[in-house]
Amino acid sequence: MNEYRNILLAVDFSEDDHYVAQKAKHMAEKLKAELSIIHVLDNIPMPDTAYGTVIPLDTPTSYASLEVEKSNLVNIADQLGVKPIHRCLVWGEPKQEIARFAEKYQIDLIVVGSHGRHGLALLLGSTAKGVLHYAKCDVLAIRLQEE
Ligand code: AMP
Repeated sequence: MNEYRNILLAVDFSEDDHYVAQKAKHMAEKLKAELSIIHVLDNIPMPDTAYGTVIPLDTPTSYASLEVEKSNLVNIADQLGVKPIHRCLVWGEPKQEIARFAEKYQIDLIVVGSHGRHGLALLLGSTAKGVLHYAKCDVLAIRLQEE
């Protein structure tokens, strides 16, 4: 079996990120794989911005909330030792942008968190489920505490 060479960690800046990130980092180290990280901006209104627009991390913007998201991503990536070239902040729908990045950069494993869900949330589906649907590579869902 081929080992994973390029692992993508998807972070949503929730308190679960640390747990999921440690699993991804550990796996990348064990396999000597390259670790990439992505956050998809789905909660900031950005008029006239097309889905799939990548936000440069090293250029200041006029959006205060965007600066917060940028520094969140840079902080996590620095802690994990992810190279600047393997960090992605992009505007759009999380499941689609995560899958799009994975395909574009030959990712062979995506790591996401997964909550146990009930009721309406179960019907609406999770990001993990959506990524599994859209991605062409393997997806590792890290089980998180039930909400
Ligand atoms: P959710 O199903 O929305 O509770 O999210 C579960 C997991 O999906 C998180 O632990 C992340 O790995 C990933 N995820 C959710 N939202 C985003 C986002 N906006 N950008 C990147 N990853 C995300």
